[in-house]
Amino acid sequence: MAYDNNNVFARILRGELPCVRLYEDADTLAFLDIMPQSVGHTLVLPKAPAEFITDMSDASLAATILSTRKLANAVQQATGAEGLLISQFNGAVAGQTVPHVHFHIIPRYPDVPLRAHGRDKADPAELAALAEKIIAALANPV
Ligand code: 5GP
Repeated sequence: MAYDNNNVFARILRGELPCVRLYEDADTLAFLDIMPQSVGHTLVLPKAPAEFITDMSDASLAATILSTRKLANAVQQATGAEGLLISQFNGAVAGQTVPHVHFHIIPRYPDVPLRAHGRDKADPAELAALAEKIIAALANPV
């Protein structure tokens, strides 16, 4: 299927919609999920248009997974999460709801169940405070 240029992440990438931005480089963008499954739920995506991982160039995929690792470190440092679930869905049947490829970084905390996928919007003030901490951790990796 042809890439949908008007999907929500394409619009965020073009600056037409806002996001709580954490990190950006020439090839990738990372921001907080607006309906987080846990505190610190982060999305990392390539700038190059691609719906599925199988549509990505080697260079775009390499850049995106390297950014995912960078964000994983910072998110864990900022949230104190005991572990991280990293996932990536291809196709609606697999759970994909936004047709621009992205990696989820979902912090896990002991005895805290995951919230539903893409259901409840987070408090914008909480997201902003969290973003500050993650951005500080990106600047000072341990
Ligand atoms: P998928 O189901 O495609 O793997 O995940 C899409 C993710 O994007 C979901 O976790 C959902 O909460 C998140 N999401 C959907 N719309 C927006 C949006 O406008 N902004 C942000 N930051 N996240 C979004």
